[in-house]
Amino acid sequence: MHLKSLTVRGFKSFASATTFDFEPGVTAVVGPNGSGKSNVVDALAWVMGEQGAKTLRGGKMEDVIFAGTSGRPPLGRAHVSLTIDNADGALPIEYSEVTISRTLFRTGGSEYAINGAGCRLLDIQELLSDSGLGREMHVIVGQGQLDRVLHATPEDRRGFIEEAAGILKHRRRKERTVRKLEAMQANLQRLTDLTGEIR
Ligand code: ATP
Repeated sequence: MHLKSLTVRGFKSFASATTFDFEPGVTAVVGPNGSGKSNVVDALAWVMGEQGAKTLRGGKMEDVIFAGTSGRPPLGRAHVSLTIDNADGALPIEYSEVTISRTLFRTGGSEYAINGAGCRLLDIQELLSDSGLGREMHVIVGQGQLDRVLHATPEDRRGFIEEAAGILKHRRRKERTVRKLEAMQANLQRLTDLTGEIR
């Protein structure tokens, strides 16, 4: 599995549609300070489901939408799509090439798609989670992040290992199910109380 290409449009400093083609092996992005190198990495994290505005070096999620320059007005949406070569079947989906995409509208809505078909954020997170491209983004090591790992609490460190081992997905599913069960239990209790009152 390797990343084949990344297309950004209206994302941070990339107002016009820009495509980066990656070959297998090492890719280096070079450019002057402030030219948008880190924005390329932010786009990768974002399309893979990153939800933390701070991780994307902004205050709120809307900050990823092109905010305009002296010569160009702000845009109403940010769009990023990432094509992954899946010839080795590393992603659990019957396609040798997988394109995931994410769009955010300034009006607030979000859209996600896998190979052009609309889906939920959860579908993208689950598709990627067994490949090591999980939602915690441990595959992207940002500036200062090594310090964070070295100073992590034992619980957080266990989280890193669980993510790498693919356990975190099941832990999250369990947490969601427990929450649903608790809500169901509360409803049941309410129903029992009501039946008691009617009798
Ligand atoms: P350095 O080498 O200093 O780390 P860099 O090449 O990694 O810099 P980035 O941090 O990727 O640069 O890009 C910063 C630029 O992106 C700034 O000029 C900033 O104004 C611009 N930028 C960030 N968000 C937006 C946005 N929403 N709209 C327009 N421009 C943006």
